[in-house]
Amino acid sequence: MRGPGTHTPPADTQPQPAHNDSVTVMRQAHRWNREPGTWREHGPLIHPEAAREIAAWWQSPGPAGLPFAAFASTGTLTADLAPAIERELSDLTGAAHLDPETREARTALRALRAYLDACPVTVWRVTHTPTPTADPAIVASALTWPTTREALHAHLDEYAATQWPAGCDTDQNDTDHCHRCRFQHDAAGWLAGDPLGFDATPDTAAHTFRHERADHNAAPTWRVERHATTYGAEFPPSPPAP
Ligand SMILES: [Zn+2]
Repeated sequence: MRGPGTHTPPADTQPQPAHNDSVTVMRQAHRWNREPGTWREHGPLIHPEAAREIAAWWQSPGPAGLPFAAFASTGTLTADLAPAIERELSDLTGAAHLDPETREARTALRALRAYLDACPVTVWRVTHTPTPTADPAIVASALTWPTTREALHAHLDEYAATQWPAGCDTDQNDTDHCHRCRFQHDAAGWLAGDPLGFDATPDTAAHTFRHERADHNAAPTWRVERHATTYGAEFPPSPPAP
């Protein structure tokens, strides 16, 4: 038995299956699929054990199977697991006559997706406010700080290139650095740290990076926050193909 591993399961699921063989696991998937009146007009969500077992059926070393492997082996939820499930499901929709095996696979994947959607997750989010009177815009959002930092890094590089397209405008030996260099120095400091701490309490933890520009009264800011949400709210399913 695997247990939930590194993810937080939804509060209400079916009881732990006695075995993790495919017949027992599929019994949970069918119960979710057929019982109307609860979550998404379906039956109770499958147990974490069943969810990780289903993920194991689709795991493989290739890019398509890695998000399944991460969840199956350690219980880790990644942003690319939802699109991986959608890709597998879309591969199973074309058949004019669904054979029983295809139907079973669809039920298993949909039960897994429903389970994941209800899992509580904490999301890192960075908003950029160009001036104190401007509206903040989301520039980076991910399940972990390292992934968020990667997106923020790309955003800050692009910001610097847009603000100071000519690049560095001072002599390298000049101690009075240009605006671009000063900004990049600030940005490197922001990216080096763990601004909130990985154990920070969601919804209360926030940190603001401020770049004081000599040529401007209004300093641009970037605010890092952690939000408590669900996997399904953060990675909503694509609308079904027409
Ligand atoms: Zn410079």
